[in-house]
Amino acid sequence: MNIKGSIEELKTMLHTKGNVVIVTHQNPDGDALGAASALALLLHDKGCKVRIITPNNTPIYLRSIEAFDFITDFLCFTPFAITTLREADFIYCLDFNNIATRTGEVGVHIKKNKKALKVIIDHHQDPDMDACDLVFSDGAESSTCHLLMRLLVEMDMVDSITDDIASSLYTGMMTDTGNFSFGNLSSTLYKNIALLVDSGAKPAAIANRIFNVKSEESLRLKGHAICENMVLDYSTCSAYISLTLEELARFTYTSGDTEGLVNIPLSIKGIYNSALFTESDGYIKISLRSIKDMGADMNSFARTHFVGGGHINAAGARSFTTMDEAISIYKKGIKLVSSN
Ligand code: 5GP
Ligand code: MN
Repeated sequence: MNIKGSIEELKTMLHTKGNVVIVTHQNPDGDALGAASALALLLHDKGCKVRIITPNNTPIYLRSIEAFDFITDFLCFTPFAITTLREADFIYCLDFNNIATRTGEVGVHIKKNKKALKVIIDHHQDPDMDACDLVFSDGAESSTCHLLMRLLVEMDMVDSITDDIASSLYTGMMTDTGNFSFGNLSSTLYKNIALLVDSGAKPAAIANRIFNVKSEESLRLKGHAICENMVLDYSTCSAYISLTLEELARFTYTSGDTEGLVNIPLSIKGIYNSALFTESDGYIKISLRSIKDMGADMNSFARTHFVGGGHINAAGARSFTTMDEAISIYKKGIKLVSSN
């Protein structure tokens, strides 16, 4: 664990009333929003004025998150978000390691606020230790939600975990581990899940409302992508899928619709590396996944071959090339990795 500052300072901060802003990374996922929701509710209960600011919108499947009403989408409500960031006494950065590269324009306004105390709580590799006053970063942790839970246990704050806070924390633990099928599934994680269940989290109900709320179109898009666009190379144990803007439009794509698609090729016997190339406005979004101890280190792959990063088995990047060029870079990179 990389730590800057002390847990006592964090505890004091959590018990000081003031204007709080909680920021997630771009394209917030279940872990980012789960952690943000849990912390927002906890600080609200302690008398703080709290806003969660996301750099862009919350995907539909995550809009049942407990603190959804606390969320402001920076892109939709830019002037309000800027004022809120300017007036913040405390800024919590959750589930990302680098303000400058992971939060879009929000990062500019975090930096501008010189008076706020700033904290990173995160589980990605190589945290930016200089950007915040306090940093709690554990690259071996399976989710930011579980890291936050561990910190609450250490600060003797388990009594502050209401049923809504427990449900929020459980959401991120569940989504970032692929419903407890990958990542570092430690015994501490399961012990802490027991605490969350005792605090009122209902695992089956949460799984149902997160995983079973997809649109028909999103399922048809995935079916199309697998059937028509999935390319396998057994010699390098790898697969990739690509989706163009035209295809996304054909299936009335909205953010979150391709969630989980990149993992699907990994369910094929002998495939340990997978990539999803999604055409966006002006760049190609790349998602990279590998199977623990079998496939490539995707964090270093994303950093070496593209501009990106993440975790060993789940990383992402952007490529300002054509789709074909991005795919070609991936194929060459995978060949290199598999020949080593
Ligand atoms: P996803 O494929 O779900 O978008 O992202 C998987 C992981 O890679 C996440 O942990 C995310 O934080 C990281 N990631 C995704 N895109 C980027 C990127 O453009 N830059 C960096 N540094 N990390 C990314
Ligand atoms: Mn995460």
